[in-house]
Amino acid sequence: MSIAANLALVQQNIGLAIARRREAPVTGPGVKLVAVTKNHDAAAALEVLAAGATAVGENRVQEATAKAALLPPAEWHLIGHLQTNKVRQAVPLFSLIHSLDSERLALEVERVAAMAGKRQDVLIQVNVAGEDTKSGVSPAGVRDLAELMSGLPHVRLCGLMTMAPFYENATEARPVFRELYRMFTALRAAALPNTSIEWLSMGMTNDYSVAVEEGANLVRIGTAIFGPRHY
Ligand SMILES: *Cc1c(COP(=O)(O)O)cnc(C)c1O
Repeated sequence: MSIAANLALVQQNIGLAIARRREAPVTGPGVKLVAVTKNHDAAAALEVLAAGATAVGENRVQEATAKAALLPPAEWHLIGHLQTNKVRQAVPLFSLIHSLDSERLALEVERVAAMAGKRQDVLIQVNVAGEDTKSGVSPAGVRDLAELMSGLPHVRLCGLMTMAPFYENATEARPVFRELYRMFTALRAAALPNTSIEWLSMGMTNDYSVAVEEGANLVRIGTAIFGPRHY
């Protein structure tokens, strides 16, 4: 199937998952899709933008920068781990960084964004399941990091992101998504100054329907749109 047809199918499945929600989530009725173009070329990214996607996601700063140079302006999202020494390159490009996961990184984003005269929107990545192989702060560390960010004038905390463990049966990821949703509502209720808690980024090819049922309003999808990645 074509990228456009795959995108349409994913959008349709998102609509069905929204309809299956048992109650309206605090994240609102809509879901935004980030088309994850990592390991796919600029032509594939161009195709998905032409098919109506508005946001593209990459997990490496260099790959994103190279691709962005070949494409019309688009909304770029950084979804992968960010190294401190890549912040200078990342800040000018990305509308939203999903993967803020340390105080050190937050302070570096503040420093670079201040120099660039930008207010950088970020999410805190949470390692809900406590997997050794994944980055992200522990659930217990979210509040402290959020409070630190709340004091940084060039960083705007906009919500939370997680990657659930991979399960053959995606419904097994449901408790992880429920937990992040719970943390999202608590963070929002805390109403920290200088924050705008609106995005709950969870759900990938394998589990986005479950994530949307549990209140995700931002999903990051690669394989279902572009096919398998070849490394
Ligand atoms: C690669 C990646 C995705 C997309 O994964 P698919 O399974 O191909 O949809 C989403 N989020 C993150 C953080 C990723 O690294």
